[in-house]
Amino acid sequence: MDNCIFCKIIKGELPSEKVYQDEEIIAFVDIKPQAPVHILVIPKKHIDGADTLPAEDAGLTGRLVIAAARIAEQFHLSGGYRIVTNIGKDGGQTVRHLHFHLLGGEKLKDSY
Ligand code: AMP
Ligand code: ZN
Repeated sequence: MDNCIFCKIIKGELPSEKVYQDEEIIAFVDIKPQAPVHILVIPKKHIDGADTLPAEDAGLTGRLVIAAARIAEQFHLSGGYRIVTNIGKDGGQTVRHLHFHLLGGEKLKDSY
């Protein structure tokens, strides 16, 4: 997707602090962290969000969550963490490229 900032990060056209990468997934530090550890885990393939997830990408979605859990181990988040995906304007999604937020490193505040 030409105008997608996460696609630009994937292509290396924008910088990012990568913490994980494989054939279909990359993960990098959120530019505006909401917790001591705030990583974004995204597919290299452009998908708008969980609302438009093709059925054929069910496996990819599982692998994104597994990658997030592995990264959580890498960051020693043994006390727990949160994996979140926002959907659409009311859900607080500002970047229309599917991503899971991995948040942790402290006792997280309650939210919805
Ligand atoms: P959301 O609001 O759920 O769509 O999440 C988008 C996230 O992307 C926000 O937490 C932003 O801080 C983060 N973000 C936006 N641009 C960048 C960037 N260039 N590098 C890293 N994170 C970014
Ligand atoms: Zn994209």
